[in-house]
Amino acid sequence: MDLTLSESELAFQAETRAWLAAHVPAEPLASMDTAEGWAQHQAWERQLSDARWSVVSWPERYHGRDASLVEWVIFEEEYYRAGAPGRVGQNGIFLLAPILFDHGTPDQQDRFLPTMATGERIWAQCWSEPEAGSDLASLRSTARRDDERGGWLLNGQKTWSSRASYAHWGFGLFRSDPQAQRHAGLTYFLFPLDADGVTVRPIAQLDGEAGFAEVFFEDVFVPDADVLGGVGAGWDVAMSTAGNERGLSLRSPGRFCAAADRLVDLYRETPDGPDRDAAAQGVVDAWLGAQAYRLYTWGTVTRLAGGGDMGAAGSVNKVFWSELDIALHETALGLRGPAAEVGSTWLDGYTFSLSGPIYAGTNEVQRNIVAERILGLPREPRPSRGAPT
Ligand SMILES: Cc1cc2nc3c(=O)[nH]c(=O)nc-3n(C[C@H](O)[C@H](O)[C@H](O)COP(=O)(O)OP(=O)(O)OC[C@H]3O[C@@H](n4cnc5c(N)ncnc54)[C@H](O)[C@@H]3O)c2cc1C
Repeated sequence: MDLTLSESELAFQAETRAWLAAHVPAEPLASMDTAEGWAQHQAWERQLSDARWSVVSWPERYHGRDASLVEWVIFEEEYYRAGAPGRVGQNGIFLLAPILFDHGTPDQQDRFLPTMATGERIWAQCWSEPEAGSDLASLRSTARRDDERGGWLLNGQKTWSSRASYAHWGFGLFRSDPQAQRHAGLTYFLFPLDADGVTVRPIAQLDGEAGFAEVFFEDVFVPDADVLGGVGAGWDVAMSTAGNERGLSLRSPGRFCAAADRLVDLYRETPDGPDRDAAAQGVVDAWLGAQAYRLYTWGTVTRLAGGGDMGAAGSVNKVFWSELDIALHETALGLRGPAAEVGSTWLDGYTFSLSGPIYAGTNEVQRNIVAERILGLPREPRPSRGAPT
């Protein structure tokens, strides 16, 4: 692993830093889970895209810069260091786009990627169902063939769909072959969230904002042109990017390095006293953890650039970054003492960090993957068919 940046990478870093310094809003945007904040974040995506910073690693014809993986990591580091807004289009950009590039038809790429890059069309991930989260393959939503119209009719319910309350299109898995067992017989569909038969019901959170929605489907027609990756191939298509999501694209190290730097600042600003003393070790651990994650990621990038793949290692990353995020924010709240309970970015960050061990595959399940696929331990016993559970 070579940590020395080349001349062109240094130039890319300088250009990124300069643009962000000149354009990142001085005041934080309103929450993207509100109508006002949604519009502000969409406008920010447009601004990023106009300057070709929204999807740096994509080809130029789709508003990207053809940036290398190393440059993408540099961009992410600079983005978080600058305190730039959260990415409202992240589920499309990080979860759907890689699948469109690998499995989409040229027509799908041309239809969907440009508006994803500009933030004009925001996508929601519709995978989880009330009875299918960790065990996603047990999903029950169906796709029934409609030969007459040349497409499929979707029925069922999805839940915990982030930002679906305001998003424009969704992507999800449906059972297209009821006879096939579990992973087989699933197909990946793309659909507008305002299509006939789709009902989006926001789920209010404790703070009153609708960060999630349930999405109901009643005979929603999807043409064949909006099947992604082939009928019955949904599982393989979906899983082809899950490792990258956990390991690299979803939570880049820049996010934690920037938070750890802010934590050090908070420590320095905190007056001498018991809160400061109690937090000292946590501050050091958080800063070292963020740096360790950064260096580990550079190792991953070197491996991937050399033709390797993420594989099960993405699960190690996911457990590490999600636990680091909680510890870092707990330390910050400790430093703030009684003020910890007053609304602040630290408190918001802490409450969000608590969901890290759940989304993108729960940490318990990631530990199973690490145990079985990396450590070679025996597989977790699966209940046999018909056995009492
Ligand atoms: C902030 C956030 C954003 C999300 N965004 C989206 C989204 O945009 N789209 C979407 O489709 N979904 C989304 N989800 C849903 C998320 O993917 C699911 O919550 C997750 O997959 C877990 O599923 P579940 O909630 O049904 O829990 P379950 O799968 O029912 O798990 C319950 C508990 O059992 C444990 N468990 C389950 N199986 C095992 C096992 N084999 N071994 C050991 N322990 C096990 C789990 O770890 C967990 O602790 C989001 C969730 C959160 C918190």
